Amino acid sequence: MSSTSPLSTIGLLGGMSWESSAVYYQQINQHVRAALGGLHSAPMILDSVDFAQMAAWQQAGEWDKAAAHLSQRAQALETAGATCIAIATNTMHKVYDDIARSVNVPVLHIAQPTIAALEQAGIQRTAFLGTRYSMEQDFIRRVFEQSGITLLMPDTADKALVHDIIFNELCQGTVNPSSRAQLQRIITDLAAQGAQGVVLGCTEIGLLLGENDVKLPMFDTTPLHTKALADVVLNGAHHAH
Ligand code: GLU
Repeated sequence: MSSTSPLSTIGLLGGMSWESSAVYYQQINQHVRAALGGLHSAPMILDSVDFAQMAAWQQAGEWDKAAAHLSQRAQALETAGATCIAIATNTMHKVYDDIARSVNVPVLHIAQPTIAALEQAGIQRTAFLGTRYSMEQDFIRRVFEQSGITLLMPDTADKALVHDIIFNELCQGTVNPSSRAQLQRIITDLAAQGAQGVVLGCTEIGLLLGENDVKLPMFDTTPLHTKALADVVLNGAHHAH
């Protein structure tokens, strides 16, 4: 296939949930339009899974099945021409290493641009909101800690609350103002414990909570990831390393 576009093609593992993948699609294209104007848009291959299957594997702790499935899809994205791949969910970075090992192109880790933004803001202790898996297990925490950033998580009851807001509301297209108020309260509690910022470590939370809703500086993984991916589209996959 001959290509007349100088832009790089990215591959997205999405549908987890599609509510946030739709935002990825829109934001990556918006960045490319802002940079190049006219009719330019982002060459992109979006592979969107059935999230019910993925969520069932998460619940059962069958991460090996999710890893095998997503690795196979990542290989298909590479074969189809993606020069960089992204997993459009924090939680599935649990199996990042398996996916990254299965392909020859870079997989742009969702924490990478978030850590860069925190470092730029001089923030070393930050609140983190995400799914139960992302908050309780160490696959996200350790990536931040390797960069010297401490994550402050909600207490057990509030972890459950945030997790349920994500799965029972946001992933199903429901935006509930009382849930926004709950997240605001949880962030205020973590600020009192010394959090200097708040990381929205789940790709759907930005559907409910915006920068104007909280006093702390906000680091939303979705727009940070999409900006980094747009940079890859514009500048080539070597920028993903
Ligand atoms: N999109 C969410 C995240 O960023 C949660 C959905 C999932 O479990 O993959 O973690």
